[in-house]
Amino acid sequence: MKLKVDYKKCEKAGECYYNHNALFERTDNGFPKILVEDLTTDALRHEAAEAIEVCPTGAITIEE
Ligand code: SF4
Repeated sequence: MKLKVDYKKCEKAGECYYNHNALFERTDNGFPKILVEDLTTDALRHEAAEAIEVCPTGAITIEE
């Protein structure tokens, strides 16, 4: 399972990198950088699911 960000939907609200900094990092232009793309553990998948919930634009997804 892979963590993805659709940068066309992202509005740089920052909820992902402020709340889930194990998975995301803020870049200089305000967009998130994905730190861990491969969700290999339940803990990572749980964290990613929480990030999806806090993103206001639906930009974060998990792909099989
Ligand atoms: S929470 Fe969503 S809209 Fe905000 S920076 Fe992260 S991906 Fe972009």
